[in-house]
Amino acid sequence: MTASSTGRAAIIAGNWKMNYGPREAAKFVQEIQPALSEALQAPGSPLCILCPPAISLAAVRAVLDIPDAASSPQIELGAQNMYFEEKGAFTGELSPNMVHELCTTVILGHSERRTYFGETDELVNKKTLAALRHGLRPIVCIGENEQQHESGETAHIITIQVRASLANLTSEQAREIVIAYEPIWAIGTGKAATGEIANNVIRQIRQEYQALYGAEAASVVRILYGGSVTSDNIAEFMAYPDIDGALVGGASLKPDFINIVRNSRQVHH
Ligand code: PEP
Repeated sequence: MTASSTGRAAIIAGNWKMNYGPREAAKFVQEIQPALSEALQAPGSPLCILCPPAISLAAVRAVLDIPDAASSPQIELGAQNMYFEEKGAFTGELSPNMVHELCTTVILGHSERRTYFGETDELVNKKTLAALRHGLRPIVCIGENEQQHESGETAHIITIQVRASLANLTSEQAREIVIAYEPIWAIGTGKAATGEIANNVIRQIRQEYQALYGAEAASVVRILYGGSVTSDNIAEFMAYPDIDGALVGGASLKPDFINIVRNSRQVHH
């Protein structure tokens, strides 16, 4: 993995959402692994993080033959969610320790979690702090909805989400987390933001972050764009200096994901 001229190494993460149980997940990874691993050998390649459903993590890990969660191959695994408690009577939930046995990373506060499962900035913040305490890299998602976008409220919403979802980090934690700017109107719609729109909001996120944690943390924190990223538009996003990679949904379920990885590196700043 090569650091970009910003000093921030790019990340391409694939959020499979509720797709591919263990059998299908293993089959898909067997199919893409040779070309994906080869693509990741090239200089300037991003870190690639696959985020299958929790029930498929072990199957994917077995195919990738990852020796242990602590080692850093160029393909890492992430969970799509977790709870903040250590253990106990929380039916259906995963604890940070459980996630850490198989993953380096966890996506938190995805808009689908916020919309369908009532997750608030406060809950996302608790989960973020718990992930960090357990050595997991959180990818914390924020972004405005269509109505907020249309009515010019994006900057306001982003300010609220950054301050509440990312509160109370230590200076070291503030450097480690990853933020994903995912405008809800662009998720799964085929209507991606332009590179310019995404970069402007991401620059604002970096400024908010600087107000919270200082210039040094703001210059190293990685901020991804997510929302209808494809192999055709990834290069446009990567050409912008504040965008450090992508969180990819639908397009991470197909072999074309390998081209997203390839095209991300070609023009990475
Ligand atoms: C996502 O699920 O985080 C996402 C960005 O989805 P899609 O790429 O399908 O828009």
